[in-house]
Amino acid sequence: MTDVKVRFAPSPTGNLHVGNLRTALVNYLFARHAGGHFMLRIDDTDTERSTAEFETSIRADLQWMGMSWDSEDRQSARLDRYDAALRQLANAGRAYPCYETPEELALKRKAQLSAGRPPVYDRVALKLSDAQKAEFEAAGRRPHWRFRLNDTDVSWTDIVRGDVSYHMSSLSDPVLMREDGRVIYTMASVVDDIDHGITHIIRGEDHVTNSAAQIQLFEALGATAPTMGHVALLAGADGEGLSKRLGSLSIGQLRDEGMEAAALASLLARIGTADPVVPLAEMRDIVDGFDLSRFGRATAKFDPAELSQVNARIVQQLGFDDVGDRLAGLGVAGGEAFWIAVRDNLSTVAEAAEWWQVCTAPTAPVIEAAAVTDAAADLLPDEVSAEIWQGWTKAVAEATGAKGRGLFMPLRLALTGRQKGPEIAPLLAFIGRDRIMARLRGETA
Ligand code: GLU
Repeated sequence: MTDVKVRFAPSPTGNLHVGNLRTALVNYLFARHAGGHFMLRIDDTDTERSTAEFETSIRADLQWMGMSWDSEDRQSARLDRYDAALRQLANAGRAYPCYETPEELALKRKAQLSAGRPPVYDRVALKLSDAQKAEFEAAGRRPHWRFRLNDTDVSWTDIVRGDVSYHMSSLSDPVLMREDGRVIYTMASVVDDIDHGITHIIRGEDHVTNSAAQIQLFEALGATAPTMGHVALLAGADGEGLSKRLGSLSIGQLRDEGMEAAALASLLARIGTADPVVPLAEMRDIVDGFDLSRFGRATAKFDPAELSQVNARIVQQLGFDDVGDRLAGLGVAGGEAFWIAVRDNLSTVAEAAEWWQVCTAPTAPVIEAAAVTDAAADLLPDEVSAEIWQGWTKAVAEATGAKGRGLFMPLRLALTGRQKGPEIAPLLAFIGRDRIMARLRGETA
């Protein structure tokens, strides 16, 4: 069996969002699961819209996700190859020059539509004589080039969608090269996939029509098309197309909101399959459990609330080694003991800083039952640590008769000012005796 080689081919015309991150991830997981090769290809032939900043940000996002690539290339470095491929196709009679202006093409389309016909290119340029072409050239017109599709059915077995068949007469001959000599993605991608030895093209189902035409291009260039897989697109939780609201949700924004790379990977590896989302902190476990054949044809729903839940479960699995540097950056100085004390209550790592503030910065207590908190102050041992909790609260219970919620809630409210939070016992040492004393007496400390 051939070794698997796949590519993620972003156009650096914007930041990654969950939709294209999912395409990248699916390719990455497919490659790693098969022990294959994951390539990064920068589709930067659209020089007007591509920027170095977007490319840098895409790379940074992939690295942050832990998705390393084994090789890379960029389309702008391969323009000679595309010119050569166009010559090869023209010599074989599969590429032909066209001289219509965009305005003329728009008029044709309009006329076809108003006559109730599909707006398929009429191939007028195929019938031009050499003299007519020479006339256009003499008048200063440069041709754009189209690929002559064979009027047959194109069929393939898609690893996600199963058997797909496309009748080509409903498609316009795709443009391969613009009149200014700039190559169009349709051909550039095929030339790249051939030269790079790509074995599987895995991308969104918005590319299905492209694939039909590209399969003929592969063949016209003397190659066999790679195996294709088209994953269903993502929609928002309400079924709305992702582009509307969430499409603008960049990976950078999600990262700033405290989402962990592992949470995104755990969720994106499973939405669109019937399998449950399992929060896995390690990429290698996500790789192990990945199976492209589990992906279905139905639109996959991306729900930010589900991402937050998965994120909380990931955060609660993280060890101090994973987060120590970030905690230090957040000003949280409590070391491993503090992390363990608060971890189970967090939805994001950054929330640890809020609890650090509660413990170490002036916090207003809430006095709900002064009898309980006064007794607690009187009975507070000289040294405070997690170990005093049991004996201390027992003594307060005996002195006041309070128990259960009536005992613990007044203590929590006085010590943290909040109704909910981590267990109090391990926080005592971080709050410290002086603050505990003051807060129990109703003072902000
Ligand atoms: N640059 C193309 C895109 O972002 C790549 C599509 C492909 O994977 O072939 O849509």
